[in-house]
Amino acid sequence: MKAIYPGSFDPVTYGHLDVIGRITRMFGSLIVAVAQNDEKSPLFSLEERLEMIRQSVRGMKGVEILHFDTLLIDYCQKNKINVVIRGLRAISDFEYEFQMALMNKKLSEKIETIFMMPSESYSYLSSRMMKEIVAKGGNVSAFVPRHVERELRKKLLEPR
Ligand code: ADP
Repeated sequence: MKAIYPGSFDPVTYGHLDVIGRITRMFGSLIVAVAQNDEKSPLFSLEERLEMIRQSVRGMKGVEILHFDTLLIDYCQKNKINVVIRGLRAISDFEYEFQMALMNKKLSEKIETIFMMPSESYSYLSSRMMKEIVAKGGNVSAFVPRHVERELRKKLLEPR
């Protein structure tokens, strides 16, 4: 079975990495798929987001990193991927994730969505919060790898 973990990863956090680690141990491998998502106006370019994940999973066996800009389900069908992984942090994630999983099921019956809860210590993390904290001068070293924090500071605090 091939599993895919799609998201914006703008930027990747320890919450994402917790999910990636757990699923990779369960499935033996995992495709992390970064959505281009220009309509969400991400802070980091696609290449920057990919590179931050590459550096974060260095040494982890079985993780493949790629990007997509089509409908996720089309991508899965073309590449014979049958499991979509999503993270569930809190009840507030539930409604959106539930709607998306049901819609994906309507688009393709063969693809299952599996929800993964992160360890409790990461369940309150979001990429958006990381950007807000760094922009206001806070420290996020407990929540993202060191190189990600460096990139956040560069992007948000250094004059261009
Ligand atoms: P998207 O824009 O697709 O929601 P994100 O990069 O924000 O992309 O998140 C990708 C997936 O990872 C989503 O399923 C999201 O719920 C999950 N996720 C985000 N942060 C965490 C976290 N701290 N713990 C567990 N799952 C998370």
